[in-house]
Amino acid sequence: MSRFRLILFLAALAVARAQVNPAVEARIDALLKQMTVEEKAGQMTQVAIDVVTQRGTAGRTHRMDPAKLEAALSKYKVGSILNVNGEAYTVEHWQEIINAIQDAVEKTRLRIPVIYGIDSVHGANYTLGATLFPQALAMAATWNPALAERAGAITAFQTRASGIPWNFSPVLDIGRQPLWPRLWETYGEDVFLAGEIGKAYIRGLQGSDVGAPDKVAACLKHYAGYSLPMNGRDRTPAWIDERMLRQYVLPLFEAGVKAGVPSVMVNSGEISGIPGHANYHLLTEILKKEWGFQGLVVSDWEDIKRLHTRDRVAETPKEAVRMAVMAGVDMSMVPTDYSFFDLLLECVKDGSVPMARIDDAVRRILRVKHQTRLFERPRPDAAMKGRFASPEFRQANLDAAREAITLLKNDKGLLPLATGRKILVTGPTANLLSVLNGGWTITWQGDREDLYPKDKPTILGAIERAAGKQNVTHVPGASFDKEIDIAAAVRAAAASDVVIACLGEKAYCETPGNIDDLTLDEAQLRLVEALAKTGKPVVTVLAEGRPRVIRRIVPLSGAIVMAYLPGEEGGQAVADVLFGGVNPSGKLPFTYPNAPNGFTTYDYKPLENTSDNKASAQFEFGHGLSYTTFAYSDLKVSGAVTVTVTVKNTGTRAGKEAVQLYVSDLYRGVSPPNRELKGFRKVDLKPGQAQTVSFTLTRADLSFVGLNNRWTFEPGQFRAKIANLAGEFTLR
Ligand code: BGC
Repeated sequence: MSRFRLILFLAALAVARAQVNPAVEARIDALLKQMTVEEKAGQMTQVAIDVVTQRGTAGRTHRMDPAKLEAALSKYKVGSILNVNGEAYTVEHWQEIINAIQDAVEKTRLRIPVIYGIDSVHGANYTLGATLFPQALAMAATWNPALAERAGAITAFQTRASGIPWNFSPVLDIGRQPLWPRLWETYGEDVFLAGEIGKAYIRGLQGSDVGAPDKVAACLKHYAGYSLPMNGRDRTPAWIDERMLRQYVLPLFEAGVKAGVPSVMVNSGEISGIPGHANYHLLTEILKKEWGFQGLVVSDWEDIKRLHTRDRVAETPKEAVRMAVMAGVDMSMVPTDYSFFDLLLECVKDGSVPMARIDDAVRRILRVKHQTRLFERPRPDAAMKGRFASPEFRQANLDAAREAITLLKNDKGLLPLATGRKILVTGPTANLLSVLNGGWTITWQGDREDLYPKDKPTILGAIERAAGKQNVTHVPGASFDKEIDIAAAVRAAAASDVVIACLGEKAYCETPGNIDDLTLDEAQLRLVEALAKTGKPVVTVLAEGRPRVIRRIVPLSGAIVMAYLPGEEGGQAVADVLFGGVNPSGKLPFTYPNAPNGFTTYDYKPLENTSDNKASAQFEFGHGLSYTTFAYSDLKVSGAVTVTVTVKNTGTRAGKEAVQLYVSDLYRGVSPPNRELKGFRKVDLKPGQAQTVSFTLTRADLSFVGLNNRWTFEPGQFRAKIANLAGEFTLR
């Protein structure tokens, strides 16, 4: 064994050890011995809550069906239930549901608890009254891991209070395809930034013990390569070679496994012709063997069936089940019938799925049930209902939204706005809450405006509060893709001192969010063009889940504020930034393209920036302005290797700044990226205050996936860059 392979093997062993407790394994051994093959197949089966509810009842009329529940547990012996039927429930109703499931469990032979799973994607978004945080992409824009950790902790608390121990989150897909309708569920385009924010969020969700009463088990999704569809549409093919996979896609998942996340959800699409659910190399060779992952692998929605019905790699539904289980899927999110259970039993009977594979899968599922303490505490803690929401939770949410908001442009100090001026507020995202929250909010698509909490302000509401209602005129102007009353908006602009045009996207989730053109809708661009002709200053506010191209209106906007999907406190946070109550400190976690096919990420390759082929962006990754100014000085590179820099607030107001260290490898065996983020630190400085920040870099930090597809360090020359300062160094 080479030294490198030995190190990998020992690392995997260490991960495996950390996830396995001998006493628990002994209990699992004993249980496995008692279990029938049907009980095992049942453990591997996950159904949606719709399967155990009364016909036609969803949302607020939702009712469990005791007979169906008993069939699920006693006949089919299901191990897991997921999701919400229609729309969010109260915490009390969730507790009733989980108790009803446990009542049914107690009538089964072995009383193995059911693990309930849910998509608490930006807070416990399927429980009414939960704290609805900025979506992941906005969380990354804070460049502040502490905020992500706090959001994770509150999400875990409110999910557990609902009686649910398992969260299908975080999305650790890398966000390098801006068309993809799930970009806002990612932490952006950079592996390092996404890793730091993602790990912090996981710490918040899981703490040091996923079984603690206020923690949940996270689920890394969607393993792997889901976020890079060639044509940008959800669930379409990606072509990713092993080197790219290991350089950009796998590191986040590996970090999640090392952070102790006990479950992984599979990529619903395909890479290089192999559907995620049939990918033995990824699921078994890399995840389970190379990384030593001991947790469970759950399929995505209906995706095992789709190996036959959609992907056409399996000739029959039964072959699809065999293929997925043999590739390494442990639990099937079937989720609307029991076909998986029946077909799996057939596979066991004819020997096409060996018992050892079944036992391995069930062991992994039981392990997670032990880790989440379901055997000891299967029922919700009734007392948690009383502590469900609190002013501290709201404050943590507001802090995150405020730090996410990113000031992209601010000519002649247009912002912050002085109060007392006459303001026109217009555009499709001005007066809706759904546009601030996006998908996975109360409903899957998040677009049921009528269901949003009435006590949270829209952007318009928050502006009225800040500037005084008498100073604010609201004219819709345009819907997302249609002109409404642009002429009226223009007339109102002429009678105002400043225009705030709120643009962006309506709420969407997954495939319904597919688009064919990254350009912002024509009607919205026309609205700004018409408004700008009045000569009144225009502030453009963007509430959107991905960077829609706005090149035409960038020169027409005196200021541009990127709000992303900032969550339910987003309206307030935007107004705080507009009027200067908050000094903006968000920075873009992706490259904002200036053209619909502008897919050049900040870490582009030399070929992407030649004399014939210039890299360009509307706004750079890491860009974000402040109402104060920061000066950088004294960049020093010392030892092997420490980079230090001093940053000073040279303006007149306090402000936060994300200090960003980039490193360029001057030459390497695989063409080097232009630069790569290798460290960042958010500092908070008063006027005149300075702080020295230092970063340490190891050989591992400067390694890359080499010609042999393994992480490799090549000695040589590097350039460190922070803001406008640079220093070269050699590392052997
Ligand atoms: C999504 C997953 C989600 C699952 C369960 C799927 O459609 O791709 O992200 O966890 O549904 O709701």
